This record gives sequence, structure tokens and C-alpha cells, in this order.
Amino acid sequence: MRLAAIYILFDEFDNVKYIGKSVMPHQRCPGHKKSKPWLSRYSIIEWVDESEAGEREKSWIRYHRSIGSPLVNKTIGGQGISGRAHTPEAREKMRISHTGLKQSPETIQKRVAKTTGQKRKKWNDESRRKSSIAHLGRTPWNKGKKGSQVAWNKGLEASEESRKKNRKAHLGLTHTADAKEKCKIAGFKSADLRKKKANEKPIDSLVGQRFEKWTVKSLFIEYDEDHNRRIFYNCVCDCGTEKLIQFHGPKTFPRSKSCGCSHRDAMLRAQAASAEKRRNAKKLKECG
Ligand SMILES: [Zn+2]
Repeated sequence: MRLAAIYILFDEFDNVKYIGKSVMPHQRCPGHKKSKPWLSRYSIIEWVDESEAGEREKSWIRYHRSIGSPLVNKTIGGQGISGRAHTPEAREKMRISHTGLKQSPETIQKRVAKTTGQKRKKWNDESRRKSSIAHLGRTPWNKGKKGSQVAWNKGLEASEESRKKNRKAHLGLTHTADAKEKCKIAGFKSADLRKKKANEKPIDSLVGQRFEKWTVKSLFIEYDEDHNRRIFYNCVCDCGTEKLIQFHGPKTFPRSKSCGCSHRDAMLRAQAASAEKRRNAKKLKECG
């Protein structure tokens, strides 16, 4: 046996405006608010057995009509389901009848209006990286399903103007070192390996930093046959010499202070000094 409630909806002047029945009145009554904007409160008149609810509803409607309550009930009551869930068959039928139906522009607008202004949760770099790692090697939902997803601009030709704009925006751009690394990782055949590699400590790029005479120009990452990561930096010496220096850790990078020009200069200076000394000594001898 299941109980159903007969309930009344009141407007702000406490007029009895609607009588209904439901097995879950506390969910049903607030749900009326959508179509009945005048609804100010509700009250349950009685709980009866579900099988009798229709008759009780009818008699309550009859009674309130007889005493002149401004009821908005369109029927004499007693019809409909009282909050029972749809059967699986009914649900399937509804699904089929709704499939392929397009929402009216107004409905769409309403739906959009609800969500506009709502900000999506922002991802920080760490969660983005984590998610990216978690998804590595997973089969995409649309893999092999041709045509399930069509780009909004498919078949549209870009105007000359937008093409120019695009070109300008992308001109001279290269992938970041991180993106390049991800590409490489994605190319590894074993999913386990991909995950392991992606979990490696991200590289804090040293690009732009100076170490004695070296200025770091660009980052270069390489994987050897055993898939071990090797980090290189392309560095420029103050004298203009470029050199690819491997990075083994922040403590030891770069091993040298310069391309060798410092040492060379020092040697030359020393040579010049000693030559000068010799020349002076010779002069002294000649004079004396
Ligand atoms: Zn140098």
C-alpha cells in the first residue's frame, strides 16, 4: 500500500487556487512554481491510500468549487498519475518520440540564458597536466565513429580577410618545448611508458637566463633508444659562439663559464704581457 497526499496550493492572498494529489507532495508542490507563478504556499489536506486518491481529489475540487474558491484546476480531478515513475517501456517510447526533435529557438535561448554568465571552473596548470596524463593512451570516445562530430565550420570557406588574419596570428610561432615533448611522448608505443614519461618532472625552462658569459636561447629535448629524456639548451656566448649544452641538473649547469673565449683571451693577454716583458728586458740590455 502506498499513500498519496491531497494538497492545496494557495496564492499570496491565501485563496485556495489549486488542488492536486501526489505520492511525493513535498517534491511535487514546489515544482508547480514554474507554471503557477502566483503560488505562495502549499498545504497537505490529507493522506489517503493511493487507490482512493483520485476520488478524494475529485471530491475536494467539487467542495472548493461549491464554496466559490477561485480554483484554476482545468479538470474535475482524479486523472493522471500521482508521481509514479515512468515504466522503462514508457521511457523508451518517450525517448524515441523525442529523438531528433529540435528545440525551438526560444527554448534554446532560455537554456543558454541560464548558463551564460556562469563561469566554468578554471583549471590550473597542475590539474591540467594531471588530466592530460590520465587521458594519455585512452581511446577517444569518437575513435572510428566517422561523422559523429561535425565542426561548425565544416565546408565553409574562410574569407580572404580571415585567412590573412590567421596567417598573421600564427606567423613565426613554434610549439612550446612542453608541447613538443608531449608530442614525442604521445609517439611512444607503450601506454605504460607514455604515462611514466609524462609523469616525469616538468622542466623549468631556463630560456632567457644568463650564466656567466652564456645566455640560454632555447630548450631542446631528446629521447634516446631507451626512452630516457635528455635535456639540452642552446646557449650563446657573449663572443657570439653557439653551443648545445646538456642539462644534468641545476647545480651543474652549465659546466663552463664561456665557450672558451675567456680562457683564450686570458692566454693571449698573458702572452702579450710576457712578450712586452721580454722586449723591455732586451731594450734594457741594449742600452746598458
Ligand atoms: Zn665565447
